[in-house]
Amino acid sequence: MNIILLGPQGSGKGTQAEMLVKKYGMNYVEMGNILRSIAASDNQYAGVVKKTIDKGDMVEDEYVRLIAWDHINKQDKEKGFLFDGYPRSLPQYEHLQDMLRKFGKKIDRLIYLNISQEESVRRLSARRICKKCGEIYNLITNPPVTAGECDKCKGELIQREDDQPEAIRHRLQLFSERTEPILERARQENILMEINGERPIEQIYEEIVSRIWTR
Ligand SMILES: [Zn+2]
Repeated sequence: MNIILLGPQGSGKGTQAEMLVKKYGMNYVEMGNILRSIAASDNQYAGVVKKTIDKGDMVEDEYVRLIAWDHINKQDKEKGFLFDGYPRSLPQYEHLQDMLRKFGKKIDRLIYLNISQEESVRRLSARRICKKCGEIYNLITNPPVTAGECDKCKGELIQREDDQPEAIRHRLQLFSERTEPILERARQENILMEINGERPIEQIYEEIVSRIWTR
């Protein structure tokens, strides 16, 4: 089974991905992490990826394709994949389909965790990061034991520049422009599963699991 999991920032995508990977045992492809580790390595694409990430831009399709191919090709395809935060554009989506076709596979499901822009802004504005160790907290969903202080290292918790409401709205705008065409395509292909993400984690998870095999 090959699944794509998409959702705006703050949709709780990462949490659902972890639970699904644990249940179904597929390969987990979290493109954000892959790109960050490439940026920090001596990989041939490290320079260009790092520059793009540091600017807060999206890595170009051309590089994402090459990197995705490198990564996916090394995994056991029989275990299936859960793609988290990838593909991010229609060309990337089409390329992923081509790749899977080469292995005799296809995308079985695209799960879209839908939350409103207001809710996304509310959740992301509540995000705090430890100045010392980088641990991430959320004042709504995952608060520290002592207010303003990191549980792990007692460091000071701060709000990142790009977690200010204006910056968040800008990112959400880019996300919806890029993602809308993918959702539209998946709808035509009858593999789109849209989920209301403004509910408790357990409820969302149960709905995904109960609907995953049905059309
Ligand atoms: Zn810390």
